[in-house]
Amino acid sequence: MDKEQLKKMGKDPRYIKGIYNYCDSWCERCNYTSFCMNYQMSEDVYTDTETGDISNEKFWNHLSDAFRIAMEMIAEDAEKIGIDLEQLKNEADDYDVEEEFERTNNHPLMIESSSYPDTVDDWFKNNEVLFEEKEVELNEFAELDLPDTEDNFIELTDIISVINWYKTLIPSKLFRAIGGRDANVEEDDDYPKDSDGSCKVALISIERSIAAWHKMLNHFPEEEDSILGLLIQLARLMNNIKSEFPNAMSFVRPGFDE
Ligand code: SF4
Repeated sequence: MDKEQLKKMGKDPRYIKGIYNYCDSWCERCNYTSFCMNYQMSEDVYTDTETGDISNEKFWNHLSDAFRIAMEMIAEDAEKIGIDLEQLKNEADDYDVEEEFERTNNHPLMIESSSYPDTVDDWFKNNEVLFEEKEVELNEFAELDLPDTEDNFIELTDIISVINWYKTLIPSKLFRAIGGRDANVEEDDDYPKDSDGSCKVALISIERSIAAWHKMLNHFPEEEDSILGLLIQLARLMNNIKSEFPNAMSFVRPGFDE
């Protein structure tokens, strides 16, 4: 894909502008793939099986082409709207990335959310035997042709996928929200804030995780204490995020909330 193709895609009314900025990046489960330019671009690359191989030279060449095109477009547009890239570069040189990273990472919400993925991994590790037993049980039910066996199996697989997908998305979206808000980027109060949009994705991820853990409890009632512990951890995090970002849930995500 070259610069002109990219510009043409950008003007195509089929695509919802910016939809990919506030999604959960789970394209496999997304209802908006045909409205998403990002998805279409990645499809163009990955439909070629050769480029689908992440270690393939063509893949990296494509990425480096995309970077070059993006930089050309930035340079063109900056000139058109009177932005001095040299000045921006000097400002960027003054910006201490490591300090910013440390500051964001040490925010209480980051400390709280960063422990969640490990807690989830520990829970699955501690309950390996339980899952093995469940697999044996469901196989026996299937042999007996008992009703709902397949549905139970599918539901359990979905629950595990949801929990694992969102466990790392929560801290990463929060990182963007906190980092963006605290980086002293001038944001116009009349416009929706990117930090609120990112925070909303984190909050939705928590809601879906809570729903998934609740369903997990139905499958493993014997694990009530440990699952309740996780539910409390998520509910507490959700409340703390809402206190810190009270406008997050009112953010209108392109496509999803319109
Ligand atoms: S909007 Fe949907 S298709 Fe596009 S990047 Fe996000 S999850 Fe993937």
